[in-house]
Amino acid sequence: MKKLGLIHEGKSMKVYATDDPERVVVEYKDDLTDSTGWRIGKVAGKGALNNRITNHLMQVLERNGIATQYIEELTDRETLVRSSEMIPIEIIVRNVAAGRLAQRFEIAPGTPLRNTILEYTYKNDELGDPDVNDAHIIAMGWTDRDTLKTIEKTALRINDILRRYMRMADIELVDIKMEFGHDAKGRLILSDEISPDTCRFWDMRNHEILDKYRMEDTSMHDLPAIYERIAERVLQMDIG
Ligand code: 5GP
Repeated sequence: MKKLGLIHEGKSMKVYATDDPERVVVEYKDDLTDSTGWRIGKVAGKGALNNRITNHLMQVLERNGIATQYIEELTDRETLVRSSEMIPIEIIVRNVAAGRLAQRFEIAPGTPLRNTILEYTYKNDELGDPDVNDAHIIAMGWTDRDTLKTIEKTALRINDILRRYMRMADIELVDIKMEFGHDAKGRLILSDEISPDTCRFWDMRNHEILDKYRMEDTSMHDLPAIYERIAERVLQMDIG
């Protein structure tokens, strides 16, 4: 496999073509953005940790029968993945109230929910990733009804697998954001990353926040140590 030119640069990663059109190389960056996509600064080492955490969790999911983009970790911040046609929606699954859900209903972060909640946003930085429902998604043609049903079922299953897995490390998966695409063979696959940038992780031992939102009550400079801690706890567990 030969790494070729840059084909896309996102907020948290760069994507390079390879000599195989069905495969691309993703390279994780150290840049951190806030919830509106505004670039806050660099967090040294974050890209490498997110690369390793994502790859570990994607392998856990693969072992549990979920199709993901993961193929092979190449270096500390580069991974070979299946190229995919991305569906422009973000799927958020919530297990515990936090973030925008807690704000919207003025409930305390940490309030238990009687059932998991699945939400969608339209992935568009200029519009600030607006909330959408399944009717919007079908009406705009972002995907079809059957695919959306499969996405919903798969997202809930991914949440269940990862919630159980993280609990073995005494970490609560509070919520998670996922993105899906179709690979060259037309298979629906989990794409993007699964990391402390895209999930809320709370320490069940001492209730500490172990994700990017930690900077709200400390500072961005504390994040490398937080990402190190979550990586240590996740990576020491067996893949399955
Ligand atoms: P909230 O909607 O409460 O802001 O976020 C819910 C969950 O989805 C959090 O774990 C958050 O990190 C993740 N999330 C929501 N939107 C985005 C986004 O645009 N980018 C990233 N990286 N994560 C997001």
